[in-house]
Amino acid sequence: QAKEQGRNTYRFYTSTLTIAANERLELDARLRRALINEEFILHYQPQFDSLTGMLIGCEALVRWHSPEHGLIAPDRFIPLAEETGLIVQLGDWVLQTACAQHKLWLDNGLPDIMIAVNLSARQLQQQDFAERVAAILDATGLPAERLTLELTESMIMLPGEQAIELLRELKALGLKLSIDDFGTGYSSLAYLKRLPIDELKIDQGFVRDIPQDRNDMEIAATIIAMARNLNLKVIAEGVETDQQMEFLTLQGCHGYQGYLLGHPLTPEAFIEQLLHAPNRLRPGIARL
Ligand code: C2E
Ligand code: MG
Ligand code: MG
Ligand code: MG
Repeated sequence: QAKEQGRNTYRFYTSTLTIAANERLELDARLRRALINEEFILHYQPQFDSLTGMLIGCEALVRWHSPEHGLIAPDRFIPLAEETGLIVQLGDWVLQTACAQHKLWLDNGLPDIMIAVNLSARQLQQQDFAERVAAILDATGLPAERLTLELTESMIMLPGEQAIELLRELKALGLKLSIDDFGTGYSSLAYLKRLPIDELKIDQGFVRDIPQDRNDMEIAATIIAMARNLNLKVIAEGVETDQQMEFLTLQGCHGYQGYLLGHPLTPEAFIEQLLHAPNRLRPGIARL
């Protein structure tokens, strides 16, 4: 009896593990097929200058347009793509597509704004990553000065001089480097100061509860002050209300990205809406 039960328990655990592994394998296979079948698309979210209200850039955000399940958010497939290594090919596709798209926009009269692209740790670990970026810039014809690469704190917490060397190699191409989700990692001021970075993006977790959460307001204000002291640009993510924008502006925040000013949009919708209202923070102008 006890033996029987023990065996059942054991079987239960084996089968759940098997199911999980099967699902992962299946999702991995579907992602690989999706890349071949060109089922990934990029949406673009605008960024605006806090003082002039002008459009200063946009961030490319990947989505999976699955024939069976519709539009799937990156949080649902990027982690697995990172684990399996598929992120290297997917990341190449994202960079290539975003650069080509932006080059097209610039050629067609969009003002000199930046395009920001998210990177994964796995991509940075490739020995020839900087060369790959150079090759993509070359192939698409996008000037390096128009490209921002977004990294996270954990990606650059490497031992010794590794991170500095890697970032220098990228900076040598002429592009900009931004630290995404800033404030959620453990990078120290002393460490940041030594890195050749251009920009910090305040994590949306510190923006969400302004003005209810005094601690978040303190943290956001401190990040802005610190960024300014280090001569870095600072962008707030996830700005959803006028109050958040006003508080951050008062603290000296340089730019914004968030639903208040514009959702991530298809390239067609992005250009349609932005060309008609490039000057979005000024009062009286309809928001996206
Ligand atoms: P992230 O780079 O920090 O991007 C910002 C996320 O916040 C995006 O989610 C965006 O849609 C969302 N967001 C923008 N404004 C607001 C707002 O006002 N309120 C709220 N609540 N959310 C806002 P998304 O597109 O789902 O992307 C999630 C994450 O997936 C990104 O966070 C990034 O870490 C990752 N990701 C997206 N595209 C790529 C990619 O091409 N490569 C890699 N490696 N990661 C990517
Ligand atoms: Mg980002
Ligand atoms: Mg972020
Ligand atoms: Mg992120």
